[in-house]
Amino acid sequence: MSLVESQQTGRGNSADHVRRHNLAVVLGLVHRSQGVSRSLLTRQTGLNRSTVAALVGELVERRLVVEVDADVQGQVGRPSPIVKPAPLAVALAVNPEIDAITIAVVGLGGQVIKRVRHATDHEPEAREAVQICATVIDGLRDELDANYRVVGIGVAVPGLVRELDGVVRLAPHLGWVDEPLAGMLSEATGYPVVAGNDARLGTLAESTFGAGRDLTDFIYLNGGASGIGGGVIAGGQPLTGAAGYAGELGHTLVNSRGIVCHCGGVGCLETEVRRAPLLALVGLADADSDELENALLASESAEVLAEVHRQLDFLAVALRNAINTLNPQKILLGGFLGSLYAVAPGHLDALVAHQPLRASREGVTIGRAALGLNLLMIGAAELAFSAVLADPAAF
Ligand SMILES: [Zn+2]
Repeated sequence: MSLVESQQTGRGNSADHVRRHNLAVVLGLVHRSQGVSRSLLTRQTGLNRSTVAALVGELVERRLVVEVDADVQGQVGRPSPIVKPAPLAVALAVNPEIDAITIAVVGLGGQVIKRVRHATDHEPEAREAVQICATVIDGLRDELDANYRVVGIGVAVPGLVRELDGVVRLAPHLGWVDEPLAGMLSEATGYPVVAGNDARLGTLAESTFGAGRDLTDFIYLNGGASGIGGGVIAGGQPLTGAAGYAGELGHTLVNSRGIVCHCGGVGCLETEVRRAPLLALVGLADADSDELENALLASESAEVLAEVHRQLDFLAVALRNAINTLNPQKILLGGFLGSLYAVAPGHLDALVAHQPLRASREGVTIGRAALGLNLLMIGAAELAFSAVLADPAAF
């Protein structure tokens, strides 16, 4: 709307603006809580009861939330209804990886309704990944059309993504360079598509529904088969950087005499702290993160413990830099980094308690990510839901 138009419409326009803002606030609270009483919504928003009732009514009409009676046995007085995310509104989540493409249907409120893992026997090219997604989604389409309203597709990419247009600038382990992934996938499926870096979306998911939900400032670091990714929540907001590439903590220098990384640097965190030597030491060819962790915890070998300590020493260097730079409340470790910590928590705690500047490290704790296998699906869906959460009235 132009300035002139907005001046002409005057107060009506500003009331509409306030209503749309309040709708977004209420929907956000329902989404993050996965269900909240109307009386608590009134307290949390500071709005009066009738306003909250009207806002909830509009969200019900827009089929974004439902109201259900509270379970009231033994309670005195009329109970406040519970407002929940509507089961109708879903996003599709996609995560292309070196050995599989995973696609999920995720409800508002971060509930993973269905997950399909399409294994591949080689790293898929971008075009091939798009075709696999389109085929899987076509197979789901009758079910989706009958039961759901799809807001769009969110893609969690193991690489650098320009979020503005969903172009994958570089996904080193997939071998993708400057692939217009979001555009291709949108054309192939007919849904709007947004794409982002996998670790950044994992951070968003932990922040919204996982171990970071009550934190305003934390660092998330995940160790996977193809390297270490990270993300930062600062002041309650994801740290994106100018174009969405912030948080590549896997490529911070931890060993100036280390080996050369695929990024061109030497001694990156992800070249010194790796899953492969851990698997080799416990005698596993391949394993999911639970199997590796159980094997590490069960091992009584001094060699295994020495390697765990060596890797934690390098992890602590990266954490020292990150803590001094970002002043977080907490560090959340996912994947095999969580397993390293589980084997020798005191070792890493002691390093983090002494290496960073005293003022920066005070109060910093280390914990583990909470969402496990669903993490990236929930994170990718968050990206797809972001437009409707920002302005439910436009949906
Ligand atoms: Zn590197």
